[in-house]
Amino acid sequence: MLVFKFGGSVLKDVAGLQAMAGTVRNTDGPVIVVVSAFGKTTDALEEVARLTWKKDPTAFNRLGKIRNDHLELVRQLIPDGSHAVYAGIEGIFGYLEKIIKDYPADREAFTDEVASCGELVSSVIVHHVLANLGIRNHLLDVRDLLVTDNLFRAARVNWPETSAKIQERCMPLFEKQRMLVTQGYIGRSQEGNTTTLGREGSDFTAAIFGYVLNAGMVVCWKDVPGVMNADPKEWPGAVLLPKISYQEAAELTWYGAKVIHPRTIKPLHNRQIPLIVRGLHTPENEGTLIHLLPELENPVPVYVRKPHQVLLSVVPRDYSFTNDHLQKVFRFFSRMRMRINLVQNSALSVSFCIDDPGERLAEILYQIQHEYEVYHNRPVELVTIRHYRAGDTSAYPLGGKILLEQRTRLTVQYVVEKQRNDG
Ligand code: ADP
Ligand code: ASP
Ligand code: MG
Repeated sequence: MLVFKFGGSVLKDVAGLQAMAGTVRNTDGPVIVVVSAFGKTTDALEEVARLTWKKDPTAFNRLGKIRNDHLELVRQLIPDGSHAVYAGIEGIFGYLEKIIKDYPADREAFTDEVASCGELVSSVIVHHVLANLGIRNHLLDVRDLLVTDNLFRAARVNWPETSAKIQERCMPLFEKQRMLVTQGYIGRSQEGNTTTLGREGSDFTAAIFGYVLNAGMVVCWKDVPGVMNADPKEWPGAVLLPKISYQEAAELTWYGAKVIHPRTIKPLHNRQIPLIVRGLHTPENEGTLIHLLPELENPVPVYVRKPHQVLLSVVPRDYSFTNDHLQKVFRFFSRMRMRINLVQNSALSVSFCIDDPGERLAEILYQIQHEYEVYHNRPVELVTIRHYRAGDTSAYPLGGKILLEQRTRLTVQYVVEKQRNDG
């Protein structure tokens, strides 16, 4: 059994949908097709949720545009206006309009409810487009299978419940159907709320199915030929990495290589299921195999840029940076759900490079300031070079002034200041 995942980078136009259909048609045996929202739909839906929360009536116009974009794309593939695909699409957008009019009670829950519709509508379209081409498939609502907690926007999977439901539901279906189509990124809490697994989470959904069903392999089809030694959209000199170990993949995704969601690796590693990252439009190329592999003898340097960071330096007002202080600061960040990407300490201060918490930053600084002096630089980027060699930084443009540098045997990292500094 195979798990195929198609993301928004490829499911965004007619060519992408046709290439997806050609790819799934050519597979033998049972396959689960996990799809993301088309193109940048999730960004647009998050914006609709934000506007609704602010009671901005332009939310309806934004929603109208998303609806029309989907309809226009489908018309090019299924011109018959009475086809069931149109009722499916209208049902989802009608529901969205209704929940916007009702005005949300809880912002986070509402955002997940709205964002989930991107995957719901794309899966309805993929299901019908495939069926229309004679590729029989069964559409599953993943929320009936993927059980999470109520941590909206970054929900955690309840593995025992999810495993039981996936097995109970998918195994009998595979006796009648070769292909199941379902949504990435979304789930449902035990209380019945729609949740999401965090942005870019569809790769992780594919890994969940792969793990539970002990798949032969999981293939993520992308708009790039595979995992490369830098983002090819930023650096034209990037080369394909044909094979990397799970460990290397985990490191690269942790540093910010956005080609695969970091949570994808662990479940597949646990069952030693191969993960292939391949280009949908470059089928002649076998892409990148991620598996249990020995470390390479002479690995090429890999460049990873993680944007939207803040550099915070924290100095205790009593000038004593003891372990107690360190523990306190870490606990505080953990309570605030802030992701720490790099830490460096000195006698009197400790610096953290964290994901930019957006408008929450002011509140976070306010809460810590009574005990600590806090300095911050924003926006900054974290640039990581893994397997660095002498002269690598001059080969890869850092793009700003270096504020902090850290080296280990395999990795060098730079916190780089972007144009504006309000610290
Ligand atoms: P999906 O549609 O599956 O969600 P993503 O957009 O999340 O795909 O991931 C593919 C993108 O990742 C590429 O378009 C590329 O710009 C970016 N990317 C970042 N780092 C790398 C890398 N090291 N190798 C390949 N692609 C990368
Ligand atoms: N559609 C979601 C997002 O854009 C999930 C994904 O694409 O993986 O974040
Ligand atoms: Mg993605």
